[in-house]
Amino acid sequence: MRGAVIHAPGDVRFENLDDPKVMEPTDAVIRTVATCVCGSDLWPYRGLEPVGDPHPMGHEYVGIVEEVGSEVANVRPGQFVVGSFATSDNTCVNCLNGWQSSCLNREFMSTCQADYVRIPNAHGTLVATDEHPDAEMVPSLLAVSDVMGTGWYAALAAEVKPGSTAVVVGDGAVGLCGVIAAKELGAERIIAMSRHASRQKLALEFGATDIVAERGDEGIARVKDLTGGIGADSVLECVGTADSMRQALHSARPGGNVGFVGVPHEVAIDGEELFFSHVGLRGGPAPVRRYLPDLIDRVLTGRINPGKVFDLSLPLDQVAEGYRAMDERRAVKALLKP
Ligand SMILES: [Zn+2]
Repeated sequence: MRGAVIHAPGDVRFENLDDPKVMEPTDAVIRTVATCVCGSDLWPYRGLEPVGDPHPMGHEYVGIVEEVGSEVANVRPGQFVVGSFATSDNTCVNCLNGWQSSCLNREFMSTCQADYVRIPNAHGTLVATDEHPDAEMVPSLLAVSDVMGTGWYAALAAEVKPGSTAVVVGDGAVGLCGVIAAKELGAERIIAMSRHASRQKLALEFGATDIVAERGDEGIARVKDLTGGIGADSVLECVGTADSMRQALHSARPGGNVGFVGVPHEVAIDGEELFFSHVGLRGGPAPVRRYLPDLIDRVLTGRINPGKVFDLSLPLDQVAEGYRAMDERRAVKALLKP
């Protein structure tokens, strides 16, 4: 089969690789229907994380089950499945508590930009749809496997409630999905922080009521202006930089909550400042598996359409162009199909 391999910053190649096989009785192998490039894939691509030895890339996927191990009873060959970037057995104590992304047997996916993918913990990770979905549903189901699930978690971690005010920091795919989540969870006012016209437009389409283009102290002041001078009930931090975290913490009201899902890079939190802010903080890799049945249902019934975050669609063999386009901000998110 063929798949993406990163060799160095800026150097992603599409290469021949060994076909994946079922290695454990809890594994499955799927044939990729769609995969994509994640904002977090850009960290090593931009040299902001070490690349190390050449290795495959990708952690978002939907596909058709090819083969299952002897202990995989929940899905069978031929079914269309959605998974998560973090695999989970769905039976350990952390999974039963709803924190599948902290599963005691967790393995992070990292080989999905390929024709076929081995899924560890397939029995606890994969959710099959009743039927093969129509082609136009595929992008939204793919989004559920990471960015939509992550945006959903950000909104829950920020305790978005009906009638509340939410701020979304970050207008990448996760931030835009965070707007969808805040809307679905009943936020009355959704302030999207974005400087890009096309992303502002999509945020408004997804349910944002206000756009703040300013950043830093000006952005914080603008949010305070819009929230009675105190800040928002809920803030979704969807970037992962020191600036975006500061923006988020200072945009929440006393007693408000920040959900942070951008993988932190050089983020340091001032304990004393946090103490006196009365702001609640929860983050981490989203337990996407917990939300999969609900989010798949919302997609298939047409309630949400997070697939709109994909503004570039390429054949899988052009994966390198997907990275370039996202790196150069010509695309928010690139969808890839074998
Ligand atoms: Zn588990």
